[in-house]
Amino acid sequence: MRKKIAILGSTGSIGSQALQVIEMHPEELELQVIIANNNVDLLIRQAQKYHPRYVVIGNEKKYDQLASALNQLPIDLYVGKESINQIVGHEAIDMVLTAVVGFSGLIPTVRALEAGKDIALANKETLVVAGEYITWLAEQKKIKIIPVDSEHSAIYQCLVGESTDWIEKIYLTASGGPFRERTIESLQKVTMKEALKHPNWTMGEKITIDSASMMNKGLEAIEAKWLFDLEPEQIDVIIHPQSVIHSIVQFIDGSMKAQMGIPDMKMPIQYALGYPARLKSTIQRFNFLDYPDLTFEKADTKKFRNLALSFEAMRTGGNMPCVLNAANEVAVEAFLEGKIGFLDMPDVIEKTLQKSSFIEKPGLEDYENIDFESRRLARSFL
Ligand code: NDP
Ligand code: MG
Repeated sequence: MRKKIAILGSTGSIGSQALQVIEMHPEELELQVIIANNNVDLLIRQAQKYHPRYVVIGNEKKYDQLASALNQLPIDLYVGKESINQIVGHEAIDMVLTAVVGFSGLIPTVRALEAGKDIALANKETLVVAGEYITWLAEQKKIKIIPVDSEHSAIYQCLVGESTDWIEKIYLTASGGPFRERTIESLQKVTMKEALKHPNWTMGEKITIDSASMMNKGLEAIEAKWLFDLEPEQIDVIIHPQSVIHSIVQFIDGSMKAQMGIPDMKMPIQYALGYPARLKSTIQRFNFLDYPDLTFEKADTKKFRNLALSFEAMRTGGNMPCVLNAANEVAVEAFLEGKIGFLDMPDVIEKTLQKSSFIEKPGLEDYENIDFESRRLARSFL
């Protein structure tokens, strides 16, 4: 039985690599649905090359172009946000890969879970925003959420055969991004182009800026809290510039397990799509002699204040991680538009967190409001 896959965000960095992974495993994996928002040209090319049964585009203005390009193919087309929320629950799907970026991943992920679909989770913002609700829903539905994020995939793999009760702590590794060796004074003047140059990974724009500001690691800490049922004190970040050790679990007996390999997102994507099986791959193998030095450093939370702000939001809990995420999305967008400097991003986020009222237990219907209000507030600080 082949596992039938839907890719939410097929035209992005994770989505495109997932298509390659599925193509490499025709016996085990079958592409059913691809979903994107704006990039209709690439979506058309993907449909022509990979022959999914369903193609969905979010942006209604792009539908005519999609329809006229694909009208000779046996593919059903849908358009609009509501179609996305519906198709993820379609009976023809076993697993949904959530590879959209930001808050937009929340509702489709909820719909997929409600319909009982397995989740390969790349969209970390979903767990940052609504981790408590999502993990509760997954438990109700007896669904495993398999992480795609390389650090969380590493921890997931280290925990096979272990009990989460035996975790003393985890170490999330971080490359340190392009500004690891820069002084804090020089950071205000960095350009968008410099921030978009990640040393080890090629990714979408938003996560690349998050990596440069280390917000990515902060979001990942919150993601890890929910995935592995951890207290904030059990989560540590260690800088490891070579990105070869993808993360580490330390157990209550003092023993540690790490998962490693070359930095290539196809590996964790494939692990999640193939789970519980390991699938063969021709992905480049690691050579120790190419990496004679694996090094580690302390994370600098004074230089990268986003990291400290994320841990603070995680400790406070309630709606604060959702506020943090919304403010960060606004700040990153403003930085990419050249409206604010690099160090203004944590300022915007901190002010938004300070000015937001605390809600201890938001429900699903609250999150859209919190996200909307936090964005409005964050914009007032630009
Ligand atoms: P990209 O920006 O490269 O791609 C985003 C994808 O989502 C595109 O296909 C885009 O479509 C689609 N999309 C965005 N908004 C919507 C929407 N409202 N409705 C439907 N589709 C939408 O992002 P990445 O692939 O880099 O990242 C995706 C997620 O995975 C993020 O949450 C990121 O944090 C996480 N992640 C990424 C890693 C990486 O290596 N890239 C590593 C670990 C995690 P279109 O282009 O057509 O508008
Ligand atoms: Mg990661």
